[in-house]
Amino acid sequence: MTQHMTRPLLQAQRVYKNYGANEVLKGVDLDVMPGTVVCILGPSGSGKSTFLRCINHLERIRSGRISIDGDLIGYRQDGDKLHELDEKAISRQRAEVGMVFQDFNLFAHYTAAENVMAGPVLVRGEDRTSARARAIELLTRVGLADKVDAYPRQLSGGQQQRVAIARALAMRPKLMLFDEPTSALDPELVGEVLDVMRALAAEGQTMIVVTHEVGFAREVADVVVFMDQGVILEQGPPTAVLNNPSNPRTQSFLSKVL
Ligand code: ADP
Ligand code: MG
Repeated sequence: MTQHMTRPLLQAQRVYKNYGANEVLKGVDLDVMPGTVVCILGPSGSGKSTFLRCINHLERIRSGRISIDGDLIGYRQDGDKLHELDEKAISRQRAEVGMVFQDFNLFAHYTAAENVMAGPVLVRGEDRTSARARAIELLTRVGLADKVDAYPRQLSGGQQQRVAIARALAMRPKLMLFDEPTSALDPELVGEVLDVMRALAAEGQTMIVVTHEVGFAREVADVVVFMDQGVILEQGPPTAVLNNPSNPRTQSFLSKVL
C-alpha cells in the first residue's frame, strides 16, 4: 500500500505571514502533488503573490512550514529542533523553484540566450558553451529559435515572457511558480504564453499558477484553489470549484471574472 502513495512535492502547512500589522497569510495549507498543475484564483490583495514569494524564499514566513520534496524551506530539522539554513543552503533550495513574474523581469542588457544562461553559468558554474547550447534548446522549445541573440527591447511582451519561462526552466526546477504571467500582455499575446505553459504541464512539470485566466484553469489545472483575505477558501477539481463553488465569496468572485 505505502509504496503506491506519493508524497506532495510542495507541502504548505499553517503558513502565516504579516507585513507589520497587516496579516497577509492567515494559515494557508496546500499540498501540490508531483506532476500536477494548481491554479490559484482570487481577488487582488488576497495574498497570492505573497504566498508564491514565500515558497521561493523571497519572503520569510512568520510561522508554519513549507517543504519541497520533503526539504523544509529555510530550515533543517534535527529531531524536533529546527535550525535556520545559511545563505548557501537557501540558494540551493531557491534553485529548485523557478519563478515567472507578471512583468518578465529580464536582464535588459543581456540577449535572450544570455538571460537563459545566466543562472546555470553564474549560480551553478556551468561552462558557457554547454549553457548556451541548452539555452538555444530551451528557447527553441518556447518557440523562439530565431530570437536567441535578440535583446528584450527587440521582443514583444509575449516573446519576453517566453524567454522568462525558458530562463526559469534552465535551472531544471522541481516546481515552477507563475505569478499572473499573462496579466501585463496585450490580449493577442496571451495565447502564445498559455500555449507554452500548457505544453509544460503536458510534459509533467509541477506548476503553481496564479492567474485570472479561468479558461486556462478549467482546461489545464488538476486543482483550482480560491484564495481570499489570506486564506484558502476552497480547493478542488476545476469543475467543482469553477462550476459549482460552495463558498459565497468564490461564487461572487467567479461571477465577476467569468
Ligand atoms: P495578491 O497577489 O493576491 O494581489 P499580495 O500578496 O500582492 O496579493 O498582497 C497581499 C497584501 O500584502 C496586500 O495588502 C499588500 O498591500 C500587502 N503587501 C504585499 N507585499 C508587501 C510588501 N512588500 N510590503 C508591505 N505590504 C505588502
Ligand atoms: Mg499578486
